[in-house]
Order: sequence, then C-alpha cells, then structure tokens
Amino acid sequence: MVHLAGVSKRYGTVTALLDADLLIERGELLAIVGPSGSGKSTLLNIMGTLDRPTSGTLRVDGYDIGSLRDRELSALRARTIGFVFQQFHLAPGVRVIDIVADGLLYRGMSRRSRREVASEVLARVGLGHRMTHLPHQLSGGEQQRVAIARAVLGNPPLLMADEPTGNLDSHSGAVVMDLLGSLHAAGTTVVVITHDRDIAASLPREVRLKDGRIEHEVAR
Ligand code: ADP
Ligand code: MG
Repeated sequence: MVHLAGVSKRYGTVTALLDADLLIERGELLAIVGPSGSGKSTLLNIMGTLDRPTSGTLRVDGYDIGSLRDRELSALRARTIGFVFQQFHLAPGVRVIDIVADGLLYRGMSRRSRREVASEVLARVGLGHRMTHLPHQLSGGEQQRVAIARAVLGNPPLLMADEPTGNLDSHSGAVVMDLLGSLHAAGTTVVVITHDRDIAASLPREVRLKDGRIEHEVAR
C-alpha cells in the first residue's frame, strides 16, 4: 500500500525525517509512536502525499509519487486516502449530514443522493441518530466519528489518522479506536499516530520514531 525507501524531509535547516524505510502492506493496522517533534506528522503527511519528500522514493498504491504531477497526485490522494486529524475540522453551523454529504460535492451527484450516501456512512459509524445535529451539539467522540465518516466516504483503501484520540477522554478514545478497528477488519489499511502507549500496544504493529529516524518496530 505504501513503500518508503530512503525518504528524508528537510524544512530549511531542520531534518524532520531522515532516511526512512518502511513498507506497509495492504490491510495492515499500525501505530506510529514517538515523542513530540520526532517526525510523526511529517511521516504521515509524506505517506499521505500531502507533502513531498526532499529525497528518497515513495510509492503509494503502486504509484511512484515522484513521477506524478500535482494534479495526478491530488487525484490519487482523493481516491486512495482518507485523513483524520486530532482537531476534527467540522464546519460550525452545518448539520452533520451535510458536513459528510459535502464531501461528495465534486462527484456531480444530486444533493439528495449525496445525503443518502452520507446517512449510510453516518449509520456505519454509529451516528444514525445524530444526523441533523450541529457539531457543537455533539460530544468530542461523536465529532471525531463524523470526521471519520467524512474520511471514509468514498471507501478509500488507506486511512491515516494523526492523534485521532488526542482530544478525547479515554472512553470516547476507545470508541474511536473500535471504529478504526472495524474499518480495518473490513479491509482498510489504517495508520494511526498516537501518544497513547496502551493504544499503540493494542495494535498489531508499532513503528517508533526518534529524532526523525525510524528507531524500532514491534510486530505482534
Ligand atoms: P511530531 O508530529 O512527531 O510531533 P513533526 O513531524 O510535526 O513531529 O515535526 C518534526 C520536526 O520537524 C520538528 O522539529 C518540527 O518543529 C519540524 N517541522 C515540522 N513541520 C515543519 C515546517 N513546516 N517547517 C519547519 N519545521 C517543521
Ligand atoms: Mg504531530
């Protein structure tokens, strides 16, 4: 699904990622862990094609990212990768169903069919009873589930989450992790950055970063 070979990322004089080699097979569920500033988000942004490596090669879903133009890269990203972040990024004042339905705007579907698809996906994340709520009327865990519904709208084979439970209490965090686990069980490749040792330890594979280097991997 994702293959990095000798990937480095420099921001000016800062080396955020150094000589990273990583192979993520289709259908894996793995954690990326490491102290603050160790390069986790940089690694995720590069694997998610939001940012290009300074050097090294990256393949996503079989495509050599370095050989794609920005437009081709955006198209690959749109059909292949869903993103979830620590901040939920839900438009205030927009109903949950429309937040998700708006993710289908570029497909040229009618408003009605967009809403139909959105309601199916919201039901899948356990929010069938919250579709007409506004974001501020939801708990943090529910808001993150809306963000996940939006991320998996087009059934992307790869889901990347950067500290998805970072703003949640432990119960809501567990619900969100269960949801990511069920998406994984349904075939999605899931990459989760986490600070939470228990969460990391509960996943089948752990990639540890330190000072921009992949230090250690634990496979269970
Ligand atoms: P983490 O997610 O593990 O906390 P990051 O990947 O965000 O770490 O950052 C790794 C290092 O790269 C940090 O030292 C950070 O300050 C630096 N960095 C990240 N993004 C940028 C940027 N856009 N410009 C300059 N430095 C950056
Ligand atoms: Mg980060």
